[in-house]
Amino acid sequence: MTTALITHPDCLAHIVPDGHPERPARLESVLHALEGKALLNEEAPLATDAQLLRVHPQTHIDALDATIPASGGVSIDGDTWLSPGSMRAARRCAGGAIHGVDMVMSGAAQNAFVATRPPGHHAERAQAMGFCLLGSIAAAAKHALDHHGLARVLIFDFDVHHGNGTQDLVQDDARIAYLSSHQMPLFPGTGDPSETGVAGNVHNVPLRSGAGSAEFRAAMTDHLLPAAHTFAPELVFVSAGFDAHRDDPLAGLLLSEADFAWITGALCDVADAHCGGRLVSCLEGGYDLHALAASAAVHVDVLIARGG
Ligand SMILES: [Zn+2]
Repeated sequence: MTTALITHPDCLAHIVPDGHPERPARLESVLHALEGKALLNEEAPLATDAQLLRVHPQTHIDALDATIPASGGVSIDGDTWLSPGSMRAARRCAGGAIHGVDMVMSGAAQNAFVATRPPGHHAERAQAMGFCLLGSIAAAAKHALDHHGLARVLIFDFDVHHGNGTQDLVQDDARIAYLSSHQMPLFPGTGDPSETGVAGNVHNVPLRSGAGSAEFRAAMTDHLLPAAHTFAPELVFVSAGFDAHRDDPLAGLLLSEADFAWITGALCDVADAHCGGRLVSCLEGGYDLHALAASAAVHVDVLIARGG
């Protein structure tokens, strides 16, 4: 068994204005940090309309396609931009996550890291926002349920921002548990503990700015990890954003690489306990290039150690 690394050069062709934090250099830094590791390299396919329609209406896909400029960039909301290559990049993100599911379900890999951009966890059913165009991990979760016939899948989101999009796409489906820790108050403003989903399948644990390692780990140990084990998932997804790092310019949760290694190990424990170690991790945020690369590297090191 092994760990798959799923990516595609098309993800570098989503171009944003100078100074935008969600830039192609993010993915280049991550891939550079993973060079030489014992990974099964796979190309991310383009997600099909049928795969995207499990979470988005056709009107959302068509509106994005129609807004793509012939050259240069178009702003959707100030944060979220479209360039000529953006939809191919976003379809690689969702397609890569779906391919990760197929690989771990077939046994071709024990676990997978999907290194793509733009991120996806802020994209709502019919609204691109927060750098995100398509709900990649939610589409992959629905694929696991509908195509592979699983009964329960878990999405664990430790990005420093609340995944309002993922929550929007899965909160009405009791077969999917969405568990998130995030800084609050912070963009996008959602993620209150009172948001619990249709069947108690959403768990939100906000953390204050400056919380640091001890508060983060306590929130995991006391709340989210027990909820993950109680749900007994048949596949574990991770929305792996590394913008809770102390060096990240967009937030102030003050975590370190050691914290990301620790939560990765704990999520592998969940996967080992309930589903034979099957885990698909998708890159979300992380905006300091050095911290992002170092954090992704320790995350993948744990996946390799646990997937071997
Ligand atoms: Zn984020």
